[in-house]
Amino acid sequence: MQDCIFCKIIRGEIPAIIVYEDDFSLAFLDINPINIGHALLLPKEHYENIFDMPEELLAKLSTTSKKLATAIKNGLNADGVNVISNNGRVSGQLVYHAHTHIIPRYDGDGFAHWKGKRGYQSGEAREIAEKIKTGIK
Ligand code: AMP
Repeated sequence: MQDCIFCKIIRGEIPAIIVYEDDFSLAFLDINPINIGHALLLPKEHYENIFDMPEELLAKLSTTSKKLATAIKNGLNADGVNVISNNGRVSGQLVYHAHTHIIPRYDGDGFAHWKGKRGYQSGEAREIAEKIKTGIK
């Protein structure tokens, strides 16, 4: 993808601080970290997000995300690590090249978990679960 900023990093056209690389994936430090050491893991091949990525690739990236999360936790003495991906505009996705955020977290770092909206009304949870189950391919 010619104009994709992450493809440009993969091609070496713009700089990034790389922390991991193999044949199909690359991880580098986020330019605007939530905490120092916040890294992004992505496939070298261009996919927009989870919805168009092949399952086999996702599985490999998932294995690598564990390696990176462990290295970040141990190497930076983090108390925990968020491993998250934003998929689609409303989820907060800004760069449309699939990526996973691996974010070191520290006790008292001030980033609260988002708050739940509300509970389910009677019967609603089962109805919602059915809709999800129907969508599983
Ligand atoms: P998202 O909202 O999940 O699409 O996150 C995109 C992330 O990419 C943000 O956290 C940005 O700070 C990060 N980012 C954007 N451009 C660069 C870049 N050139 N190098 C490193 N990280 C970047």
